Formats: sequence, C-alpha cells, structure tokens
Amino acid sequence: MVAAMLRFIRLVVLLAPALLLGAGAQAEPAAKQLFGAKQLPSAQRAQAIGFYSKGCLAGGEAMPVDGPHWQAMRLSRNRNWGHPQLVAFVTWLAREAAEKDGWPGLLVGDLSQPRGGPMLSGHASHQIGLDADIWLTPMPSRRLSAREREEMSAVPVVKPGPHEVYENVWTRAHGRLIRRAAMHPSVQRILVAPGIKKRLCEEAGGDRSWLAKVRPYWGHNYHMHVRLFCPDGSPGCKAQRATGSDDGCGGALAWWYSDEPYRPAKPSKPAPKKREMTLAALPSACRGVLAAETRAGTQTALAAFEGHVPPSVLAKARDMRPAAAALVGLPYMPRPRPARP
Ligand SMILES: [Zn+2]
Repeated sequence: MVAAMLRFIRLVVLLAPALLLGAGAQAEPAAKQLFGAKQLPSAQRAQAIGFYSKGCLAGGEAMPVDGPHWQAMRLSRNRNWGHPQLVAFVTWLAREAAEKDGWPGLLVGDLSQPRGGPMLSGHASHQIGLDADIWLTPMPSRRLSAREREEMSAVPVVKPGPHEVYENVWTRAHGRLIRRAAMHPSVQRILVAPGIKKRLCEEAGGDRSWLAKVRPYWGHNYHMHVRLFCPDGSPGCKAQRATGSDDGCGGALAWWYSDEPYRPAKPSKPAPKKREMTLAALPSACRGVLAAETRAGTQTALAAFEGHVPPSVLAKARDMRPAAAALVGLPYMPRPRPARP
C-alpha cells in the first residue's frame, strides 16, 4: 500500500513539468490575436521576417489609401501595410499600367497588418509585408467613399465551375496588367485562377518568359495575388522555391482540367485538429516586433482616409444614416468605437 502510494507520488512528480508545460502552451494566446490587435507599425528598420505564411513585418510602411492611379479598398481592415519595397512596387504598377496598358487604375486589396503576422480572418500568407492582392476590377474614375470601399464587390473574371473566363469581363488590358506585374524583377510569383492562366497562355504569343511566374491556384478569380522576393536587408526573410523557366501552360495547367483536383478525398483517419499558431512558432524576432514602440506619425487606413475629406463634409456624413449618406454621395463614417481598456 505504502509502496503503491510512493510510486504514485513519484509519477506525479515526474509528470508535473510536462503537465505544466502543456497547460502553458494552451494558455499562450494565438499569434493572430496579438498581431491583429496592433493598429500601427513598429518603430524599427523595415524588415520582412520569416516566411510568407509564418512571420511578421518590422517597420511597416502604409500604402496610401489614395493615389493618382489607385484606391485602397476595405479600409476598416487596416491591412494596407507592407515592406517599403511592396508599397513602391504597387505604386509603380498603378502608374505604369495606367500610362502604358490602358488599365485605368488599381483597386488595392489586402497587403499586411501594420506589424504583419497571422490575421484574425482570411489569408494564410500576407504575413511579412511582401504579398498584395490587386483586384482585377478596373478602378472607377471617381473617388469611392469609405462605405463603398467596404461594400463594393469585385467582379469575378472567371466562371464558377469550369475554369473559363467570362468573355464579357475579360479584356486584353487584364492580360497586359498581369504581364506588367510579372515582368517586374522584384516579383517572385503571381497567383491567379486557372481560367486566367489558361487565357494568358492563349494570348501570350511568342513572348512567354514571364508566364512562369503566373501560377494557377484556387480562388483568385477576382484578384491577383502578387508576391515579392525577399528584399535586401532582410536576412531573416525565408525565400520560396523558384518558379523555374517552364511557362506552365502544359501539363501543370492541364491538371486543373482533369478529374484529379476534384476527386473526393479518400476516407481515412480524421485530419488532426489544426493548432492555432502561437508566438513560439514564429521567428523569435517577431516578439521584438510586437514589443517595439509605435512609429510616430503613423495612422490607420480609415484615419488616413478621413484626412482627405473636408471636416465640414465629414461632420454632415457622421450625422446621417449610412443609406442617406450614400444617397447624397457622402462618405459614411462609422463613429469610432471606444478604445478597449
Ligand atoms: Zn492574397
């Protein structure tokens, strides 16, 4: 009896550290909660840290919400932050496409959070300030209100089901825009729906070198996802495998038109429950990014947008119901929520 009790006590003592560790790992908040709560960038030198789907961003720079050839969408998400090289690239693409490709301007979707990292919703990647979603809907000639930027839907370019573009939506200018982006030396790859890749392959003619970077993928039927190479000065940035020189218009594309991608998964063991990514899973430098001071003079996307609107107009819009504000073409600004304690 005593021996049995001693054995039991020894077992508890041996297991205690493991039990405590287990509890500790569970108690650690998900990294997306920590990064999702950061409203503004860190006061650090700009660096992409880690991999596109497992990392963070130091010294993020804001993509301005408006420019001569672009407008940023979904301002309330505050995901218009990137490595300065990404901001420079999107700015360049907007101007070049408007001046040379007959593309009236970019509607800019998500880049990264102010300090990058995992997000509370959507996107596995976009974590290190080197990914940008560019809508394949041409920019309208007028400035959109904040409300329109929240609610306006992008126009799908590809039909649901068969991987074919809508003939009444696709234009040669779509192709020129994607080619322009792919030709830029800092672009690592671009993801589009298979139907878009197919159409690009058909229209490319003899000029095909850039096609290797344009990769078919699920989703991406109303936007292209542009990814940049790791920039100089970011030694902690982890490169992705090169896309090679094959134009990808052969077997790799044919796979999407076979039965293979749509076969139901073989019944097997239930998939292991996905663990939330904790801070411990990210490069250790990401702790410093979270802890760093906020860079002075920075503001969220919505606050930056408000700066564009004359205060008198803004005051009127604030007193209106959203629908009424939209009717008279005023930006609808939800009143700022009280800050969390
Ligand atoms: Zn994306």
